[in-house]
Amino acid sequence: MKNFSYTRAATTQDAVVLLSNLPNAKFLGGGTNLIDLMRENIEQPDALIDVTRLSPSGIAETPDGGVSIGAEVRNTALANHGLIRDRYPVLSQAILFGASGQIRNMATVGGNIMQRTRCYYFYDESAKCNKRRPGSGCDAIDGFNRIHAILGASEDCIATHPSDMCVALAALDATVKVQGPQGERQIPFNEFHRLPGNTPHIETMLGPGELITSVELPALPFARRSRYRKVRDRASFAFALVSVAAALEIQDGRIRHARLALGGVAPKPWRAFKAETVLSGASADLETFRLAADEELSEARGFQYNRFKIELARRAITGVLSELAEAGDRP
Ligand code: SF4
Repeated sequence: MKNFSYTRAATTQDAVVLLSNLPNAKFLGGGTNLIDLMRENIEQPDALIDVTRLSPSGIAETPDGGVSIGAEVRNTALANHGLIRDRYPVLSQAILFGASGQIRNMATVGGNIMQRTRCYYFYDESAKCNKRRPGSGCDAIDGFNRIHAILGASEDCIATHPSDMCVALAALDATVKVQGPQGERQIPFNEFHRLPGNTPHIETMLGPGELITSVELPALPFARRSRYRKVRDRASFAFALVSVAAALEIQDGRIRHARLALGGVAPKPWRAFKAETVLSGASADLETFRLAADEELSEARGFQYNRFKIELARRAITGVLSELAEAGDRP
């Protein structure tokens, strides 16, 4: 690991100014992914700006009935908060399916959103990787690509986004608040992460010097009936092969509103808009759920070792929607 300086920011404004003056610096929250990336020489910042001591925003109800979550909030605190468990169980479940208790105690909301892919080749300095070294190629495409993307990939990168929490935030239509040299702005969660195209090294819509300050959840009463399912190789401490975050509002046997997002299958948390279109207004039954899954996966493309994910995703989507329909008003 190369030498770097360490500075503790006292205010959000300080943090933004410090980053503007230190272009090759990184913000340090829980550090659970960043320190690994530094050890592997993938991230080589000149400076770390510690943002864990900024005025805490915490978790608070907003005037419109939503919830605001500070970027500094630890994953454990968020998953266990009464407002989240009660109103957005899909978010609480997604976080608790991620990592380990120790990591969740350290990891922050802002850091979770900014974590980077776990593609094996990305971490291997001897491999070709357009994300680590633009223009060098992608060893995953013809390599061991079991954990890679079936949706949204490009000829330059087929990596998946690793977060569970972000899949729930995508389904819930969250908004990311950021502060930068030009002031504050808001980015819809589904636009925050970018698809790789021919620039897989640019992963988010954050501009130079911008810091995530909070995440806003809209009021979404039907999210009380929501669920997260994660399919993985081990029962704990494993990334998703496929995950599903879903919420349904059903009235008189028909779906009034549906929210669906997928994890482990795309370079970003994948909001399943095509499936939602099929679900909206349709009868809440197995046939509809299968049609919705088929529509969402109609353009899925598998590679040598990950073709199984297409059928796995189809079954996971159908299963979660069926469980929600059968659960009635029970969470
Ligand atoms: Fe790199 Fe993306 Fe290819 Fe993995 S899939 S080797 S991250 S370019």
